[in-house]
Order: sequence, then structure tokens, then C-alpha cells
Amino acid sequence: MLDRFDPKLDGAFDAVDREALLRRLRRILPAERLIASTEGMRPYESDGLAAYRSLPAAVALPADAGEVAAVLKVCRDLGAPVVARGAGTGLSGGALPFPGSVLLALGKLNRILSIDPDARTARVQPGVRNLAISEAVKPYGLFYAPDPSSQLACSIGGNVAENAGGVHCLKYGLTVHNVLKLHAVTLEGERLTIGSEGPDAPGFDLIALMTGSEGLLAVVTEITVRLLPIPSDVQAMLAAFPDAGCAAQAVADIIAAGITPAGLEMMDALALKAAESYAHAGYPPDADAILICECDGAAGDAEAELADVAEVCRAAGATLIRHAKDQAERARLWAGRKAAFPAMGRLAPDYYCIDGTIPRRRLPEVLAAIAAMSREHGLAVANVFHAGDGNLHPLILYDAQADGQLARAEELGGAILELCVEVGGTITGEHGVGREKINQMCVQFTPAELETFAAIKAAFDPAGLLNPGKAVPTLARCAEFGAMHVHHGETAFPDLPRF
Ligand SMILES: Cc1cc2nc3c(=O)[nH]c(=O)nc-3n(C[C@H](O)[C@H](O)[C@H](O)COP(=O)(O)OP(=O)(O)OC[C@H]3O[C@@H](n4cnc5c(N)ncnc54)[C@H](O)[C@@H]3O)c2cc1C
Repeated sequence: MLDRFDPKLDGAFDAVDREALLRRLRRILPAERLIASTEGMRPYESDGLAAYRSLPAAVALPADAGEVAAVLKVCRDLGAPVVARGAGTGLSGGALPFPGSVLLALGKLNRILSIDPDARTARVQPGVRNLAISEAVKPYGLFYAPDPSSQLACSIGGNVAENAGGVHCLKYGLTVHNVLKLHAVTLEGERLTIGSEGPDAPGFDLIALMTGSEGLLAVVTEITVRLLPIPSDVQAMLAAFPDAGCAAQAVADIIAAGITPAGLEMMDALALKAAESYAHAGYPPDADAILICECDGAAGDAEAELADVAEVCRAAGATLIRHAKDQAERARLWAGRKAAFPAMGRLAPDYYCIDGTIPRRRLPEVLAAIAAMSREHGLAVANVFHAGDGNLHPLILYDAQADGQLARAEELGGAILELCVEVGGTITGEHGVGREKINQMCVQFTPAELETFAAIKAAFDPAGLLNPGKAVPTLARCAEFGAMHVHHGETAFPDLPRF
């Protein structure tokens, strides 16, 4: 069954009659919302994983759910694959088109449909930017909690498809914990309403199934999100450490002490120096690692909790603790963290952001192992990540123009992901599998588990036309990759430091 969902992308859909496809799409969409010229489609040829690029047969820009359904029907009739796209900030190639596909860009569905301050919910279209939700509900004293660092640009539809996380997900949960109801259209043309506005919905938890399904099951056309009251007090601090291992230990100790900060982020020496020179956030340049911790709650509570965090950090070896004295300083601390990815441009022409999650208590040893792997591959790695969630983001620095460096970066990235699996973690924390990590799915899951995923896809999309070649590998691919499911306890890394 799996093979249908993992075609070789180049040439797999060459038989699609492009002229017929365009003719049918022109009957649905006005000329300005159907792009078919090479130069017009260039901005859509990749997502945030810019190393992979490919042009679709056409870019369709529907303006409502009816047009989404109509485009899907054309694709179904002509056997053309469809790739949904939000803002294209994804980092795993999820929105990467391929020849013969229709790229369904959802940016025109960008309206906030209603806000219910009493129920603390908002109904929004999928193209609404993440940050725009919090901005719209602020006058009611509310906010939308999941806050990816890309929140200025990324869409809520993309967040649902990737089950996006962010700084505040440690305390407030991921996208899946903050979505109540979804409207979606399947490739078969079925309109689905999933979840409810109440605290729970009857039947199977299809919200959880749909959230994180990476555009493989249905196209999401409306989302009801849960809103939270803006906390009355928010405090932040920075702790600096002479050694990244001590900082990682402090993270494990904070959680073990029963403290759940609103955010707990870590940056190693390379990341904090780059961010400091870019954003002037006031980070100590000679530290080997810093933690940024934010606590919130009723007046006084945040300060008390932050004092507990500071004590744990000191015990773990922090050499500097600095509480942000006002909201401007707090904003500066976060500005540095949010600028860390773009700041990588100061260190190397290109970076490759890896996303894996590990049990928090394994942080010190995994960071040491990544440093060893970085030396072995001859590529620098900067670490800036959601430490409280154990969600790693090693940024592998390379130069795409230099011979073989991209291949080496990919090899190192794959090895880091396999290390995450080996220590009991996962190959994705929040960026999804997409095209990028499809081979590592073979390491994470057994053949039987992969068959189950394929059966779920088939139940929603029997023709296999929604985002094929992403997220769920075939067993043939796994055999080719030669890494079928490493069982925990066995080691694929005999040369790395053992812990
Ligand atoms: C600088 C930077 C920082 C980032 N920081 C974070 C972070 O802190 N946390 C985090 O989680 N992510 C982060 N990301 C990754 C990215 O922003 C998220 O994955 C985001 O959720 C993608 O949203 P998008 O609208 O750009 O989706 P796209 O990239 O357009 O699409 C992502 C996937 O969703 C599918 N999709 C999109 N819309 C729909 C829809 N309506 N229905 C069905 N499927 C759909 C696509 O097919 C694709 O598979 C970061 C990215 C960048 C560039």
C-alpha cells in the first residue's frame, strides 16, 4: 500500500495533462489568482528549506473554501497531485511543489471571521498570520499562546499542519492543545468539521490526527482557536554558564524541581555571539551558554517563580543571573533569541536547521555528542532551542557553493536525528517530516507502524494525490536507505562518546 504515497517526485506525474489542468482551473479562478508562468511561480518553488527547489504545473490562489474544493475536484478528475501552502516558512520541505503538481496557496484566505471574548475563542481562515491572531484579540485582554519564532510570517493553517510549537508551548501546549475545531476539505470533495467549541468532542480525537498531518489528509479551510487571558505579570531573566553542559543540566533540574516556566530557551556560545552582534540584546559574549527563562502569572507569582529558577541555575554553576528590570529589557532578551536564525548569516552563507526532540535529562550528553559529530564532519553547529521542551535546533553552518558541503550538512543532520531516536527522542519537535526527514522516518518507526500511517492516509485520500512523497516513506525507500528502525538500546554511533 505504501508505494502509492511515495512516488519518485521527478517524473512521477509527467502524464498529467498540464494544458487540460490549466483550462479547467481557468474556469474556477480569475487570471490574477492562477499563476502558470515560470517567473510568476519562482517565489513558490521552495519553502524555508531553500536547498530543495522545484516548479509546480500551476499555482492556484483560491479565495474561499468553495474555490479550494473546486480546485481539488479538478486535481482529482485529472489525477494531478496537490501541495497546500500557507506562508512557505516551513523548514522540512512540506510545501515543496514538484513537476505536475498544483500548488494550492492559501494566503488569500486571510480573514479573522469572529472573536468570542466570553468563550475565549476565535474563528480564523488558514492564511491568517499567527501573530495577527494575538494582535486582534489583545483589546479583549486575550492572546493565542503557540508562538513559533516565525510568527510574524507563518500562517495558522501551516501551524495546524505542522503542529507548530514555540517559546510558550512549554507551559501552554503546542498547536494541537490550542485548536478546538477545524473545517477541512478532502481530495474526494468531502467537507469535514472536526472537533467542537466545547472542551471535548465526541468520537475519536480527529483534531489530534489532523494537527501535524502535513497537508497529507485534507486542506484545512477554517480553524477555531482557544484564547488565553494575557497574564498580569511577566518576568524574564538571563542565566549565563561557563559550560554548555551546566546550562543543559540546569534545564533538567528546573523541570525536576516542579517549575514550569512560560518559556525556557538555550543558546550556545556560537549562537549567542551571532545573535548579540546582530540584535544587541545584551548577552554576555564570553559565556559558553545562556538560558533565557520567562515566568508569568498573577502579580508577584512570576517574580517568585523566577527566583526559584535563579536558585537552581546558580546551583548548576551559573556565573551570571540577570533579571530584566523592565518590559523593554525583557523584549530585548527575546529579540536576540528571535534573531538567532537570521543572525547565522554572519557566520556562514547557509545554515541547515535540524529539529529533533529528546528527553530533557539527556540534554547534556546529546549536546556533547553533537559537538563531537560537528568536529567529525568538519562543519560548525550552533545550538539555539526550546530547551524546556527538549526540542533541539542544531543549526549546521555550511556554504552551498563549496564542493560537497551541502551533502555533508545533510549527512550530519541525518546523523543528529538518528541520535535523537537512539536516546529515546523523536526526529521532529515542531518542523514536521516533509521531504527533509522522510528517510529518518524509517529509523523512528517499524514497517508495521509505517503501514498504519499509510492506511490512515488512504482513508482520507485513497488516490494519494495530497502532498505525495512527504512525511510517510515507502518500505522500498526504507530498504534503499538501509536503516530500518534502529531499536533503542542498540547503537548506530559506536564512535561517539558514550554516556
Ligand atoms: C526563522 C524561522 C523560525 C521558525 N521557528 C519555528 C518555531 O519556533 N516553531 C515552529 O513550530 N516552527 C518554526 N518554524 C517553521 C515554520 O514557521 C512552521 O512550521 C510553520 O508552522 C509553517 O507555517 P507556514 O504557513 O509557513 O506553512 P507552509 O510552510 O506553507 O506549509 C507547511 C506544511 O503545512 C501544509 N499546509 C499549509 N497550510 C495548510 C492548510 N491550510 N491545510 C493543510 N495543509 C496545509 C503544507 O502542505 C506543508 O506541508 C520556523 C521557520 C523559520 C523560517
